[in-house]
Amino acid sequence: MPLHFGHTLLSIPGPSAMPERVLNAMHRASPNIYAGELVDMMDGLVADLKTVACTTGDVAIYIGNGHAAWEAALSNVVVAGDRVLVLGSGAFAIGWGELGSSLGLDVEVLDFGKHTHVEADVVAKRMAQDKDHQIKAVLVVQSDTASAVRNDIQAIGQAIKSVDHPALFMVDCIASLATEEFRMDDWGVDVMVAACQKGLMVPAGISFVYINPRGRAARARIARVSQYWDWELRISPKRFRDYFCGTAPTHHLYGLREALNMLIHEEGLQATWARHRVLARAVWAAVDAWGAQGRMHLNIDDPKRRSYAVSAITTADGDADILRNWCEQVAGVTLGIGLGMAAPSDPAYNTYFRIGHMGHMNVPMVMGTLGAIDAGLKANNIAHGPGALAVAAAVIAQG
Ligand SMILES: *Cc1c(COP(=O)(O)O)cnc(C)c1O
Repeated sequence: MPLHFGHTLLSIPGPSAMPERVLNAMHRASPNIYAGELVDMMDGLVADLKTVACTTGDVAIYIGNGHAAWEAALSNVVVAGDRVLVLGSGAFAIGWGELGSSLGLDVEVLDFGKHTHVEADVVAKRMAQDKDHQIKAVLVVQSDTASAVRNDIQAIGQAIKSVDHPALFMVDCIASLATEEFRMDDWGVDVMVAACQKGLMVPAGISFVYINPRGRAARARIARVSQYWDWELRISPKRFRDYFCGTAPTHHLYGLREALNMLIHEEGLQATWARHRVLARAVWAAVDAWGAQGRMHLNIDDPKRRSYAVSAITTADGDADILRNWCEQVAGVTLGIGLGMAAPSDPAYNTYFRIGHMGHMNVPMVMGTLGAIDAGLKANNIAHGPGALAVAAAVIAQG
């Protein structure tokens, strides 16, 4: 019997659920783009975007999704024929590398597979072998939204520096900005890419490239960057429209303003990170309980390596789809597909689903999602252990 009514809860790892406050902030007539409120808002918005990434560096805003930020970042620091080293740990660094290949880069992939993290000492070894510094940049993802692994960005940055390699350190925080602790300056990240539709709770459409002085210096060595992707004018605009190389994404900026108010001015960035950690641990506890019988388990074994933004869960063949369909059609909760984990021809294709717990997520949303899954397991006679909701509640009670 279909029981869904009212909002469907979107528990996928991006786009994430949007708070009413963000939606309401966007619900307005088109503003003046030459003077007034929107133009005056920019200084504070840029300052807050830097705060979220713990950086005093620069940030360029692009009208585009995460792929746009991927292309923008690469276009400013490398040219066709340059070698970049991609550190694979799921799907997204590999995807960034594929985009790099389409730009003519010489892409080398050091792949750690889909079930574990990037090992910093292996990276150090590879960088040490590159004696004549062919590798111009190293690309890695903090939270891989497919495998749900969280890479240790600080350790990987140290590994590159420990062998005195000058390659730029470029990090994809598209899923992790404002969900996981990330300290751009302290961790020595040169270029970071992010987008607005995950931890930042704004509909997809704008993305960000953060740059430190080493990143700026790399840009200065490039002879020619397309006017659209060039970050220089976006960083140092002479007029409002220079921020965007044309018309501003007016309503997204209002949405982002409200989201940043909620996250950094009201909740506080440390508390935002802490909330994500607790809610993620509640999800893990539930999955562990379900996994005591049957085949469900978290894709990443080591809790220290798990993303706090998303969980990827393995099931017996076919169960993932049955469960997702039931949760959406009967319970009004949309779960994520097992993206990028196996090709449709692979027997493992139907064995994954994901729970997004990023951005606008709170206790009733996470407990509601877990409750719907628990009911879905029972309704579909999928083998599982008991007590998942109780252990999740216990995690939340401890905080
Ligand atoms: C979502 C995501 C992307 C892709 O972003 P799009 O907006 O879909 O282009 C890239 N990297 C990570 C880690 C992501 O989570």
